[in-house]
Amino acid sequence: MNVNGIMPASRPNLQKTISQLAKHYGNPEPPITTDPFELILWENVAYLVSDERRAEAFKMLRRHAGIKPHEILAASHDDILQATKLGGMHPEQRVSRLKEIALIAMNEFGGDLTQVLKLPLPKAKQALRKFPSIGEPSAEKILLFTRAHPVLGLDSNGLRVLLRLGFGEEKKNYTATYSTVQEAIKGQLKDDYDWLISTHILLRQHGKELCKTNAPLCEKCPVRKSCAYFTARVPT
Ligand code: SF4
Repeated sequence: MNVNGIMPASRPNLQKTISQLAKHYGNPEPPITTDPFELILWENVAYLVSDERRAEAFKMLRRHAGIKPHEILAASHDDILQATKLGGMHPEQRVSRLKEIALIAMNEFGGDLTQVLKLPLPKAKQALRKFPSIGEPSAEKILLFTRAHPVLGLDSNGLRVLLRLGFGEEKKNYTATYSTVQEAIKGQLKDDYDWLISTHILLRQHGKELCKTNAPLCEKCPVRKSCAYFTARVPT
């Protein structure tokens, strides 16, 4: 039984679904950075804000404090606060967190996270998870965007879209649900960084724009014909 409350007869073709999403939304812009440390800062500089607002906060951080571990450590509290204030609630807490991230990068990795990218996948994920707010999904996203490992890290939007389409099952906790979705899609992934990165971005965009948490806009959805959530609700 999946999140849609039904047993899907068959899963959609993921590659075809992604092509349909690309046609609908256009080819996505590349990630703002492919540097592992900067991707960790990106995750932590803002909280519950739009991507545009997060980008503003990140640019402000780059301008006023810097985005290298030694620069963050040397920056004043107020310089970092200028950026975190743009990034939503609890800006003071995020100043401390960015300092902590820089400290971990210096103490554990000599200020250079590129060495992490050379590790085998389990060890690379383990290393990235030493940083605040980096769990399995974020670690996978970083390893994907840095082109270190061809894994399809999913954010909560992407996970929700795939569940509704018919991949995986809702479990008692997020981690278990995430695993079932990863298991369900693994036979349908391309071993191709460009495709995987586009897929991550398109699924996220779809989850934010049409396949929203509450009241998804299925009537406007380009992939509704192959969606388990939609077809379970259409009268036959
Ligand atoms: S049909 Fe609805 S539930 Fe299915 S993917 Fe589209 S928006 Fe989401």
